[in-house]
Amino acid sequence: DLSDDDEPTRELAELRSWQDGLRAQFPILANHPGLAYLDSAATTQKPRAVLDAVQEYLVTGNANAGRGTYPWANATTAALEAVRERTRAFLGDPEPDRSSVHFVSGTTEGLRAIALDWLAPQLADGDEILVPFEDHQANLVPWHEARERLARAGVRVAVRPLPYQASSGDYDHRALPQLVGPRTRFVAATHVHHVLGGDMNVHRLRAAVGPDVPICLDAAQSVGHLPISLAELDVDFLVFSGHKALALPGTGAVWARDRRGPAFRPGGWSGTPNTVGLISLGAALDWLTAADVGRIERWTVALAARLTEGLRHLPQYEVLGCQLSLAADATAQRRRGIVSFRHRDLSSNDLGFVLHSHGFLVRADGLCRAGVDPDDPRDAAVRVSLHVHNTPEEIDGLLAVLATLD
Ligand code: PLP
Repeated sequence: DLSDDDEPTRELAELRSWQDGLRAQFPILANHPGLAYLDSAATTQKPRAVLDAVQEYLVTGNANAGRGTYPWANATTAALEAVRERTRAFLGDPEPDRSSVHFVSGTTEGLRAIALDWLAPQLADGDEILVPFEDHQANLVPWHEARERLARAGVRVAVRPLPYQASSGDYDHRALPQLVGPRTRFVAATHVHHVLGGDMNVHRLRAAVGPDVPICLDAAQSVGHLPISLAELDVDFLVFSGHKALALPGTGAVWARDRRGPAFRPGGWSGTPNTVGLISLGAALDWLTAADVGRIERWTVALAARLTEGLRHLPQYEVLGCQLSLAADATAQRRRGIVSFRHRDLSSNDLGFVLHSHGFLVRADGLCRAGVDPDDPRDAAVRVSLHVHNTPEEIDGLLAVLATLD
């Protein structure tokens, strides 16, 4: 049983009135009082302020950006530049004069642009890159595609797996130095794992690969969930999706430390941008900042701790990935607001079906990991992913249903 004085329970009690006020700002929840939305890692629900910003823009000054000279057009161009600056501020960009922010349709497109437009033209025969084979497919496929395109041109590049440590759900930082050599040109990594929920200790990755190899960080599951400081992360690229950070789908950004190197999507930027989507992104970043991303992190980490603790008492379930650590120690592996677990006998889809029928919207199926078969018992996980609107009552209700399936 959960004792009242454990740390997650105290965190939740302390933040409860702040959280109540924010939960009330998600209209979709009021429309579905019987449902618990536990799939924010797939996409997030939108607060009223984001919906209002979209409506306001479309009914007062909708125009194209970067062309036209009348006031709506000028205002749209200025608004998108303002979103670029807000993105920099949100990410804690320490070098705004040197860096660039490119809007993309999401993480998948951003990683592809880096792989095919920026990295591939710079690689030579015999070069090596390290990529995370166990992370989201979006952070695997484009690096292989770059290798294949180069191979067709007679340039052989080795794509090596970034090593994992299964027990912690983190990269194996100790094995890394042997894998990094004079021909290592690039490392692709993930900030927070979309299934295992662990924060991948990016500073340890940097220490292991050394200062000169560019690191590209897939931050799809961290932007909007925990405070981001590019100054501390010390990466060369950071990519995220707007729709996973309370904005509309079809938005996202690539932050690049240095303006040098080949252009992304050559010529592609002359098309019409997703104006209304980017307006929503600006509103979402403002909302997250006002809500306090640090508190969102504390809230979702405490909810995840409540869930993992509850699952510890149900022996028919196994939680994937790292053990929870609320320790302030910066080097400890920490679980964020994502908990994937499997039932001893039930498949992912069956467990998902039962939970959905009780109003708990979780993620079932292969969870977008390469080579994962949802009908294979070893892969049969469901995922609960949390945001600020989720409550301890939702977690307790979920645990109560899970307890009935033995
Ligand atoms: N990377 C990670 C870690 C993700 O979790 C996801 C989506 O689930 C993606 C990349 C792909 O994001 P998008 O579909 O927004 O391009």
